[in-house]
Amino acid sequence: MDLKLNNPNLLQSGAYIDGGFVSRQKTFAVNNPSTGELIANVADCSREDVVDAINAAKVAQKAWGKRTGKERSQILRRWFDLLIENADDLAAILTAEMGKPLAESKGEILYGASFIEWFSEEAKRVYGDTIPGHQEDKRIMVIKQPVGVVGAITPWNFPNAMITRKAAPALAAGCAMIVKPADETPLSALALALLAEQAGIPKGVLSILPSTDAVAVGEELCSNEIVQKISFTGSTNVGRILMRQSADQIKKLSLELGGNAPFIVFNDADLDKAVEGALISKFRNAGQTCVCSNRIYVQDGVYDAFAKKLAEAVCNMKVGDGFEPGVTIGPLITDAAVEKVESHIRNALENGAKVVCGGGRSDKGGTFFQPTVLSDVTSKMEVAREETFGPLAPLFRFKEVDEAIEAANNTEFGLASYFYSNDLSTVYKVAEELEYGMVGVNTGLISTEVAPFGGVKQSGLGREGSKYGIEDYVEIKYICISV
Ligand code: ADP
Repeated sequence: MDLKLNNPNLLQSGAYIDGGFVSRQKTFAVNNPSTGELIANVADCSREDVVDAINAAKVAQKAWGKRTGKERSQILRRWFDLLIENADDLAAILTAEMGKPLAESKGEILYGASFIEWFSEEAKRVYGDTIPGHQEDKRIMVIKQPVGVVGAITPWNFPNAMITRKAAPALAAGCAMIVKPADETPLSALALALLAEQAGIPKGVLSILPSTDAVAVGEELCSNEIVQKISFTGSTNVGRILMRQSADQIKKLSLELGGNAPFIVFNDADLDKAVEGALISKFRNAGQTCVCSNRIYVQDGVYDAFAKKLAEAVCNMKVGDGFEPGVTIGPLITDAAVEKVESHIRNALENGAKVVCGGGRSDKGGTFFQPTVLSDVTSKMEVAREETFGPLAPLFRFKEVDEAIEAANNTEFGLASYFYSNDLSTVYKVAEELEYGMVGVNTGLISTEVAPFGGVKQSGLGREGSKYGIEDYVEIKYICISV
């Protein structure tokens, strides 16, 4: 496809290893999911490439970790500035390879960049402690040091932000990072590498290795003794594989895995606000985020009114190519993604649910799908247990507050949750009893670089963003001095 960029250099197709873009004989095609058009053929890295990147990272990390926090801060700040300067181009690359509406892509670039800005500031504040000694001659000091070389594996749904959310704290702390982006979306990752180089990030500190052999890359990152830590965002199943593979060397892990977010509307909620929140939390990125609400529980007294208002708003959403003005729902990433939504709808309808709006593929063809609302959904249906990862809003009915909390917690996942109530006691009770890492109260949009993003239960380990985010990339060292 003919992608018009102000800075065409941002479209790189070589892997970025040890400070250089390198082509490989073996390549793979990156296509626009909206049109199927070819955007670029990208270097397909082998396991040997991963070893080379790890060896380079080992050397680079030693020097990078010794620099002052202020020096790392200034370089990261330049990287942030370059993302902002190139935001329009980066957004266009993102929409081309991933399909989300251009306005959402722009939002993601600003969100992704915000982590670099935040951690460029935090680089200077990796404070330790002094502790009063336990004996007269003892002085106790606690310092924080970079974990070392980190391997990162990232998904396609946020091709920019899922990388910056890991690379920014890692580099701020003095680590080096090797990233394997999703093979659907390597171009946003490589554009980030180009800007990192221009910002002055030394060679080897950040390498980006596109590869269709995720298994081999994962195995090398987990088994190579130079790599001290794995940071992964993706499915719970792959998270389990990486955790198992990391067990032999007790490798540190940060895992951002699947969710099954509940969205609860109580009788006393502001319904217009709740509808607005449901639209954002459910249909952003066509429902393809791990914090998208997956189960919408509505209390008896407002169920019909909420369903009507939501359906009206959903029917007005515009499905189409992400570059088309006014489009709010782009294509789904693959056929498999469409089939999953279809199977959840089929299973729900077979068990008594009703279509309120949408219900099937869009007449645009391809992987376009109509935003859908189902009513009369119950806990017996597949959609109650599994993340749909598509534009399907299933409405469950409940009577009592405790019933909603119990249903919401009845899952192995614990990432994001949302609820709407204007009653102070309900707000405190529900916020405290939801078994989730994140709770949005009267809001459907909670992601920001200033707050800790992460899950409990099988949704993961560790936190990204905020003052807590850098902790995932430092080790604590206790020094005891006898004077
Ligand atoms: P999704 O369903 O969002 O694609 P995945 O967990 O399958 O989620 O993919 C997230 C990332 O994990 C991608 O970069 C993918 O290539 C990678 N991946 C998939 N399988 C493995 C594996 N066995 N080992 C390491 N990485 C993997």
